[in-house]
Amino acid sequence: MTTAIYCHPECKRHEMGDWHPESPDRLQAIEDQLIASRIDNYLDHREAPAADIVDIARVHRADAIERLREQGREAKENGGYVPIDGDTLLNAHTWDAALHAAGAAVAATDAVIAGELDNAFCAIRPPGHHARPGEAMGFCLFNNVAIAARHAIDVHGLERVAIVDFDVHHGNGTEEAFLYEPRVMMVSFFQHPFYPYSGVGGEAQFNPHMVNVPVPAMSNGEKVRQLVTELWLPALNSFKPQMIFISAGFDAHREDDMGQMGLVEADYAWITRKVMEVAKAHAGGRIVSCLEGGYNLSALGRSVVAHLKALAELD
Ligand SMILES: [Zn+2]
Repeated sequence: MTTAIYCHPECKRHEMGDWHPESPDRLQAIEDQLIASRIDNYLDHREAPAADIVDIARVHRADAIERLREQGREAKENGGYVPIDGDTLLNAHTWDAALHAAGAAVAATDAVIAGELDNAFCAIRPPGHHARPGEAMGFCLFNNVAIAARHAIDVHGLERVAIVDFDVHHGNGTEEAFLYEPRVMMVSFFQHPFYPYSGVGGEAQFNPHMVNVPVPAMSNGEKVRQLVTELWLPALNSFKPQMIFISAGFDAHREDDMGQMGLVEADYAWITRKVMEVAKAHAGGRIVSCLEGGYNLSALGRSVVAHLKALAELD
């Protein structure tokens, strides 16, 4: 197995203030745990290129991209923060970090489809799954996973791709990007009711390719494994995706105060292995996973190790 990890230094220079939980320390915690767990040496480390605007524009509206570029320029010139919403801000590095975050997902997709890699994990920020086609929000600028999935369809000609989202929050931006795209299946679970208060009702409930599973606060790994087995896996196996993308948020962890769910590292490893079984059955094993949330630094680092051990079949 060759599993790559994509990163870029700019992703650690984007920061939104000392108070902010979506901090550069998250990537440092992941790096530290990869080294401590001794799996670092088994991974192919790759530096993420910047995405081309044409890649981003497959998902995001031109006016939304231009607005962010302008706000990024303003942050560079002023040296301060430019707010997008109450908890999403740009600093001088954010625009470049966002280009490299999306670029990681696209480059990983190219390398996996080319057969250079079995699978890849993108240790990137800003995260992406709340970013709507026309609006950045919820710590997210560009929807990295959606951009990569669209790249796989438009550039590589794949006809069926699946997006698996196990972040504690609903991936509203991803759903919006693919609500009317029959070539994309999205499966997710998320704490409900909870930010961003989407994923229940609306147009998606009539679309069998949108497998949104709301779960109440305090749901644990047993509950999640059950819904994965009963709802995700049958849908994925009947859809037969040619490639699978993962919105890998680790904020449903028991120790993560951002959400109120009860997953542990073993649950992330189990979900990853189940997704790999689907990928091996239908997609030649092809998986690209992108970091989304996860705010308890220790739990995040340990969970990413569990996820990567499963992806690289080191466990
Ligand atoms: Zn989240």
